[in-house]
Amino acid sequence: MRLATLRTVEGLRLHVRTELGYVDVGRATGDERLSTLAGLLGAGADGLEAAARVAPGASNGVADFAPAVPAPPKIFCLGRNYQEHADEMNKTTSAWPEVFVRFPCCLAGPFDDVYLPSFSSRADYEGELGVVIGARCRHVPAEQALEVVAGYVVLNDVSVRDWQHRGQQWTPGKNFEGTLPVGPELVTADELDQAALVIETHVNGELVQHARTSDMIVGVPELISFLSTFVTLEPGDLIATGTPSGVGTARDVFLDEGDVVEVTVEGIGTIRNRMRKDDRRPASDRWVRLAEEAVSR
Ligand code: ZN
Repeated sequence: MRLATLRTVEGLRLHVRTELGYVDVGRATGDERLSTLAGLLGAGADGLEAAARVAPGASNGVADFAPAVPAPPKIFCLGRNYQEHADEMNKTTSAWPEVFVRFPCCLAGPFDDVYLPSFSSRADYEGELGVVIGARCRHVPAEQALEVVAGYVVLNDVSVRDWQHRGQQWTPGKNFEGTLPVGPELVTADELDQAALVIETHVNGELVQHARTSDMIVGVPELISFLSTFVTLEPGDLIATGTPSGVGTARDVFLDEGDVVEVTVEGIGTIRNRMRKDDRRPASDRWVRLAEEAVSR
């Protein structure tokens, strides 16, 4: 099953893709709890079954895609989870997952423009597989971890490298608003084996990243086991599983106004975002000057 959150005149509404088009799940089932992804996942297996029974229907106008996971309680991201990516960054890897977090205000729709800060010239793409949690869980053994997965999405962990690497913590450069497009749909776990999917990123049509999810250092089951060791995972939580090699910063090439970045994960789909400059200036140039020092280090 493929679930999309669409922007409608009544706000964000969960839709299921049918052979004729996208159908509003809350309306079709008569159960308004199922009008959002959070509501559907909160309803557990009953919610998924109800959505799966929705009769095919035509889309209501042109679909306007919101982030496929519009309101995740938590967003975890993995750094250096592909060996070749760590190598190109001259970084070592370890068996310990390099976890950082993002805030929900980072999310963008799968076809939205992404606004890059005009005061940095080091914005970069990171094509990745996203995992969406479907059940409240804690201390999940790796052997059972896939049972708590609701489904999978494609994402682009757009990163502002100078703001990422200026300090020890990656939080600023990984949290510019609207720089985490997610979608286009959530493909439910029953339809997809995540173990060896092809991930590809194109910039202006040129292939820049190509790998398989089987190249991850710490795979999806182990990641879920690890994260659930220190926090309760909840329905809708999103895990960005890390990017393979081929990022721009390794070649000193960065994103600019008008660039189009496409990320495709086999079996899920493609997100496509045009990069734009956010012309708003900081209140002070102080932080900009300090961030620029990261470039020369
Ligand atoms: Zn990433």
